[in-house]
Amino acid sequence: MQYLSTRTPSHRVSLSAALQDGLAPDGGLYVPARFPDLGPDAFEGCATIEAVAERLLRPFADGDPLADSLPAICAATYGFPVPLRPIGRRTHVLELFHGPTAAFKDVGARFLADSLARLNEDADQPLTILVATSGDTGAAVAAAFWKKPNVEVVVLYPRGKVSARQEKQLTGWDTNVQTVAVRGVFDDCQDLVKQAFRAPTWQEHLRLSSANSINIGRLLPQMTYYAHASLQHWRAHGTAPNVIVPSGNLGNGLACLYARACGLPIGEVVLATNENRPVTHFLETGAYEAFDTEETLATAMDVGDPSNMERLRHHWPSAEGLREVVGAERVTDEQIGEQIRRGPDLWDTVWDPHTATAVEARDRLDPHDEHDWILAATAHPAKFPEVVEPRVGHTVDVPEPLAEVMARSHAVPEIAPDLDALWDTVAAASTVASGA
Ligand SMILES: *Cc1c(COP(=O)(O)O)cnc(C)c1O
Repeated sequence: MQYLSTRTPSHRVSLSAALQDGLAPDGGLYVPARFPDLGPDAFEGCATIEAVAERLLRPFADGDPLADSLPAICAATYGFPVPLRPIGRRTHVLELFHGPTAAFKDVGARFLADSLARLNEDADQPLTILVATSGDTGAAVAAAFWKKPNVEVVVLYPRGKVSARQEKQLTGWDTNVQTVAVRGVFDDCQDLVKQAFRAPTWQEHLRLSSANSINIGRLLPQMTYYAHASLQHWRAHGTAPNVIVPSGNLGNGLACLYARACGLPIGEVVLATNENRPVTHFLETGAYEAFDTEETLATAMDVGDPSNMERLRHHWPSAEGLREVVGAERVTDEQIGEQIRRGPDLWDTVWDPHTATAVEARDRLDPHDEHDWILAATAHPAKFPEVVEPRVGHTVDVPEPLAEVMARSHAVPEIAPDLDALWDTVAAASTVASGA
């Protein structure tokens, strides 16, 4: 399988190169050159999610140095359950939050971490991954790369601009994962990462890479839980379930569309967004427009210009064509709050603010609709106690893996938003940069 850049389709690279580069040299995003044909029969004998993942991803790694390691990478990606739980009214919840940081981003981050560690096993110098985070991505990436050999990670977050619980998830790491608190906002952190990639000193002393959400190595593994869930449903009922995906940067929704394009039994796909309108506006008007980001209760979906829109439009160039493959529902903060409040009574479930957008989209569908629906639950409600607890009227227990991460939280260095300050901090911790 080859991967091509959305901006220069003739520029083609292997899976390994796409994973290591992140972004194509022309600034485009890597997409698979084709989708393999894998209907339900192709998965005969694949009972576990690891087995389904291995079967589905095999053609995507075909001819690549990682191909032989694929079973091991898929095993390292999961190791936690991804249950499909029926909750009544032809509705099932796909719980994507049983990983170490209690959100679906664990899956993509762990696949990428294991792949990059394998690719760098024999390198003379470790790979240094820089990540700027406003919260959840950084925690998933830090957890995934922690203690991986020959890879070092530097996570930058804006001090005081993330919730107390998020800060604990970002600062529970050591050895090869260094967290740095920046006196600034998220954009300052992002800027520092960009500056580092251009700075001669950094280029000279370190092998830099990134693990941000536009890396195809985070998108591909996300197909696997939709594959597993739809096959479970297909085997039990003989029908293809529809799926609703809470969406912001569109990586998770796109993975669901990719899984269906490979032949998995998935019916309609609906993207549920918060009040940010780039997706619904594009589908309604046919003209893509970026918007200023609006802050909502579903913070991880606060995106005004989703990067994966470029992939979506590469595969389905017209809004008309896109409307045929995907729907979208925009959900207000008031509706998110109301769905969380009613969750325990109506669905016997405490929803997190992101999943609540999917529940609202489900509610809007025709009550006589005869299809089965799967709601992707993207995070555990305990990650967002400030939003959830006042609405359901009780505290929400923190799941064990996340509690373990937060219990390790410790003081981290704090710097001004300045590249020299960051270099001093990184060099002090890194064996390579300090020449030790
Ligand atoms: C990142 C995130 C989303 C949005 O996913 P995209 O792939 O960016 O569309 C939704 N819910 C939660 C909890 C997230 O962390």
